[in-house]
Amino acid sequence: MRKKIVAGNWKMNKTYSEAVPLMYEIKDLLWKSKKAESVIKIIVPPYLYIHDFYETAKGLKNLFVGGQNCAYEESGAYTGEVSASMLKSVGANYIIIGHSERRSFFKETNAELKKKTDITLKQGLTPIFCIGETKEKREANEHFNVVETQISESLFHLSTEEFQKCVLAYEPVWAIGTGLTATSAQAQEMHHYIRSLIEKKYSKPVSDNISILYGGSCNEKNAAELFACPDVDGGLIGGAALKAKEFVEIIHSIPQ
Ligand code: PEP
Repeated sequence: MRKKIVAGNWKMNKTYSEAVPLMYEIKDLLWKSKKAESVIKIIVPPYLYIHDFYETAKGLKNLFVGGQNCAYEESGAYTGEVSASMLKSVGANYIIIGHSERRSFFKETNAELKKKTDITLKQGLTPIFCIGETKEKREANEHFNVVETQISESLFHLSTEEFQKCVLAYEPVWAIGTGLTATSAQAQEMHHYIRSLIEKKYSKPVSDNISILYGGSCNEKNAAELFACPDVDGGLIGGAALKAKEFVEIIHSIPQ
């Protein structure tokens, strides 16, 4: 059974005094919502707030906390880095790996992302592995190739057992933070393509069971249409995750 998931990536937003009330606001709305109960909800704040948010999230069904990134080494002299084991020790269950902002601003390569995925899985945490093409690549009709390379170079070394523990997020770069959402047809086409790659590499049951999220200017107005696509299992949400009411409305858009 594919899990239905909505994750909110807060990126580098909110000071501590702004973040804590927002987390409580989200939790309060979720407490009152029967509809949101079965959806896996993941709040992905800046590292500093993970432990507090983990404590706040306790007791609410299917509410988890995640990290936005992790180091590609386990420990040692890597000033400024945060390891997967540290994230686990403060309550994270998920780690976003390969977000397009990490790939573009911090020049993270498929080889580094492979190491990060391995380390995340080794800690027993779930990678939310991001893939997606730039505007130029889509216009050049190379979007399928880009996504295939990202997945095969960073994930296809995994055993079936390991791969099944991952969550994928298709996030076309041209849609992230731009207000330009992929149409539901574009999202469905790519998600279906991703499943076909997984089927070829692993098996049909593996491709049928893995959760693939859509991300890129997803909001409370367009979420229902995107989530209704047969191969879309929820969303990775950026901007709209910073507004409690909107974020919970997006969670409510998961078909029941
Ligand atoms: C993201 O950063 O993963 C994202 C999808 O951002 P936004 O929703 O703001 O486009």
